Amino acid sequence: MPPLPISMEEAKRRGVDRFDVILVSGDGYVDHPSFGAGVIGRVLEDAGYAVGVIPQPDWRRAEDLSALGTPRLFFGVASGNVDSMVNNYSPNRKRRRRDVYSPGGRLLRPDRAGIVYADRVHALFPETPIVLGGIEASLRRFAHYDFWSDSVRRSILADAPAEMIVFGMGERPVLEVAGRLSSGEEISDIRNVPGTAFKMAVREWRSSDREGRLQIPSFDEVAKDKRRYAEAFCLHHAEQDPYRGRAVVQPHPKTVIIQNPPATPMTTEELDRIYELPYTREAHPSYHEEIPALEPVRFSITTHRGCFGSCSFCALTHHQGRIVQSRSIDSLVREAEAMTEHPRFKGVIQDVGGPTANMYGMACSLWKTCGACADKLCSPACPTLAADHSRQLELLRRLREIPGVKRVFVSSGIRHDLILADKSAAGDEYLQTLTRHHVSGHLKVAPEHVSASVLAAMKKPPRNVLEEFLRRFKAISREEGKEQYPVPYFISGHPGCEIADMIELAEYIRDHRLYSEQVQDFTPTPMTVSTCIYYTGIDPFTEKAVHVPRGREKEIQRAILQYRDERNWPHVREGLRLAGREDLIGDGPECLVPRGR
Ligand code: SF4
Repeated sequence: MPPLPISMEEAKRRGVDRFDVILVSGDGYVDHPSFGAGVIGRVLEDAGYAVGVIPQPDWRRAEDLSALGTPRLFFGVASGNVDSMVNNYSPNRKRRRRDVYSPGGRLLRPDRAGIVYADRVHALFPETPIVLGGIEASLRRFAHYDFWSDSVRRSILADAPAEMIVFGMGERPVLEVAGRLSSGEEISDIRNVPGTAFKMAVREWRSSDREGRLQIPSFDEVAKDKRRYAEAFCLHHAEQDPYRGRAVVQPHPKTVIIQNPPATPMTTEELDRIYELPYTREAHPSYHEEIPALEPVRFSITTHRGCFGSCSFCALTHHQGRIVQSRSIDSLVREAEAMTEHPRFKGVIQDVGGPTANMYGMACSLWKTCGACADKLCSPACPTLAADHSRQLELLRRLREIPGVKRVFVSSGIRHDLILADKSAAGDEYLQTLTRHHVSGHLKVAPEHVSASVLAAMKKPPRNVLEEFLRRFKAISREEGKEQYPVPYFISGHPGCEIADMIELAEYIRDHRLYSEQVQDFTPTPMTVSTCIYYTGIDPFTEKAVHVPRGREKEIQRAILQYRDERNWPHVREGLRLAGREDLIGDGPECLVPRGR
């Protein structure tokens, strides 16, 4: 199957004179299930709609945005696979020099791409509905702290001339919206689709039925008062469940934002169908340069959606949700078999995973009836959660047996605590199998920190779990005669983290001779618990004050994590002195940095 058309010439070759839906995206167009416009486009096409894509338009040129004409139903507008501000700026707010979702890594995406594209589309096609989608719109659906302007911004729906946001994983809501528009409904009448948010005039809201809708503090309140911000976050966070969540309402100065409950989870059959659509796994053939983000995932397989980890710094809870939805093994095997026919396939499946690779096939018996608990986080200790790796073992075995497949890697991060929590024989066997067959020299683990208080703030498992896991991984690697190493990911500057905590982590890295280049400086991206704490200095669930490193302290924390880098030594010395740890400055074996001249 050819990719979706990005020009009228291509459309005409397919016998299409007018599109039903036109997707405008900040990414280069890649016909692959890991790319938003790729998957939404194929899903709509599979349902019988004529879909065109306008990838990375120059928003200053009307010709770019009008190249495909007026769609019959709506424009779907998205920043792309990543929030445009995260994509365009580094954690210290410096402009990036490369966009990995763009041909040749070129910079073609405007800041706040969702708003910019929607503005321009609306100016050109004022009568055509605009539906925002993708991660940027999804995570900016309520008033939110925006790190790049250091301010509280309104919901993206209040700023953009769009009628609706499809939030979370959009296939099911977008199909329902397309179906209802196609049957003649007006977009302004479509107000009850799970997985969508819409806006209402203030006057209409005042006289409307509020039954079953939860009103949270307004934009004006959260912009003025950090306690109200934390309260609003806590309230809408509790409703992000497809089974028990209520619609959430947030008044804004000129409009009222109403978020319906999230879409119900996909069935295995639905997911199988989506991922087995006829993707070419290629960028659009008109591109002369590679899209850097495609190469690492071209031959990867997505096994599931959702993550019950609830790490504080991750927005997945608000986007894919906590309920894990897994594909069938047969479908995954068929996808891998189809890959072996691809002309570029060299026998290596680059990744078999999802948000957390080893959550594949896991489920809590409550999810299907009551959703995920509101009053506690999911944990391997929950008796109703089956932390069982046997389905993954079977999947990996079947993938290894496919003729033409030489290696199968698990490159997505794994939750090491889940492996240890699996007390069946499958837990041990999974670690053995992973170590023996599915690690490409380095195993990514994401402990993120080792200090007990920081781990608690991050909602990550305690340090002793990491140590036990690493001990077992290294022992198996030794038995197998394999030179492979764990690559732990650590975060500096997270809310709740003090300089003393970073020194504890640096000493841990020193003592365990860990490779510590995988360093992330905490970035407050929209709609995470950590971002709420970063902005307010308050834990939204306990209302307690939390220390938030900023400015110079944040720089020092980052430097301490990379204490081996000579360029960081002045900062590291400063941090050690501030924490009263001059004993770690000097030439001794325990010292992190030498004395300065
Ligand atoms: S019982 Fe535990 S695993 Fe199940 S939904 Fe509740 S918190 Fe999550």
